[in-house]
Amino acid sequence: MFAADFEYYRAGSVAEAGQLLAAHPGAKLLAGGHSLIPLLKLRLAAPAAVIDIGRIAELRGISADDDGLRIGALTTHAEIAASDAVKEHAAALAEAASQIGDPAVRNRGTIGGNLAHADPASDLPTVLAALGATLTVAGKDGERSVDVGDFFTGVMMTSLGENDLLTAIRVPSAAGRGTAYVKFSHPASRYAVIGVAVALGIGTKGGGWISKIKGEPKETVCTDAAVAIGGLVPKPLRCSGVEAALNDQAPSDETFGAAAAAVTGDLGDDLLGDVFASGDYRKAVAPVYVQRALAAAAERAGQA
Ligand SMILES: Cc1cc2nc3c(=O)[nH]c(=O)nc-3n(C[C@H](O)[C@H](O)[C@H](O)COP(=O)(O)OP(=O)(O)OC[C@H]3O[C@@H](n4cnc5c(N)ncnc54)[C@H](O)[C@@H]3O)c2cc1C
Repeated sequence: MFAADFEYYRAGSVAEAGQLLAAHPGAKLLAGGHSLIPLLKLRLAAPAAVIDIGRIAELRGISADDDGLRIGALTTHAEIAASDAVKEHAAALAEAASQIGDPAVRNRGTIGGNLAHADPASDLPTVLAALGATLTVAGKDGERSVDVGDFFTGVMMTSLGENDLLTAIRVPSAAGRGTAYVKFSHPASRYAVIGVAVALGIGTKGGGWISKIKGEPKETVCTDAAVAIGGLVPKPLRCSGVEAALNDQAPSDETFGAAAAAVTGDLGDDLLGDVFASGDYRKAVAPVYVQRALAAAAERAGQA
């Protein structure tokens, strides 16, 4: 099907995009087009105007400092997957980006478009939830930071307003912790049926003077666990039950199995399903993917 007619504008800067958004209420921003163009063609969206932000140079690129990464909203999945800085500070993000769709999708699709589209089956929201990212948004009242936990509000819904443009994603460095992203991919689209992201530290407990008096040995334990799941819930979900079952426990198969089982309690009742995999089926197999992600993150934490 053809898209309904719309006016096309190309913005040369973030400021110009803001002016165009203000001048054309209901307009849609166009980044890589891999989610918006299908919506236009299916006429699930029929905006009067489309504002192309795809050539705004200030929205592109990855930089790193002591605090972590700054990723411009127009950075493509392929650029994230190939970035040494991302691999160093947030390996799970590069791992997730490398598993998105196919080369055509990864070469055109952008992190900003992926987040703004807020498809529950997308990969990057889940990883950014586990890594505690902050999103930078330019709006009519200037720039603001939004915690990733406050950004997604439901299925394909975000806290972005009509005149807002996502400009960058800040990802705190996970160096020192092991991170991993493991997904059950849909065989046709590669979208996540279930996606699990983990950041995990391995440290020691005990060894202080009280432990010495008591004759207690130092123990190797899991620390700073952050686990998020997506694909089967309306928006990325931090798994507090899984995290609680990890911290201060020995990094063993038994610990990971028990922690992974706790995900069924974290998931709640609002589960997504389709003809390919029902919500109940996804819930039943979710612990398998959580356990795999925990084991992969722990192995990398050992190398960190
Ligand atoms: C065949 C296929 C397979 C795919 N497989 C996967 C997969 O396995 N995993 C996965 O995560 N994704 C997958 N995707 C989606 C892909 O990652 C898209 O690229 C992404 O969701 C949208 O990014 P985009 O740059 O193409 O955005 P666009 O399509 O240009 O825009 C999407 C939406 O975001 C808005 N938008 C874009 N940029 C901004 C911005 N900076 N600020 C505010 N709003 C903005 C647009 O207005 C629009 O509403 C797949 C897509 C296709 C077509």
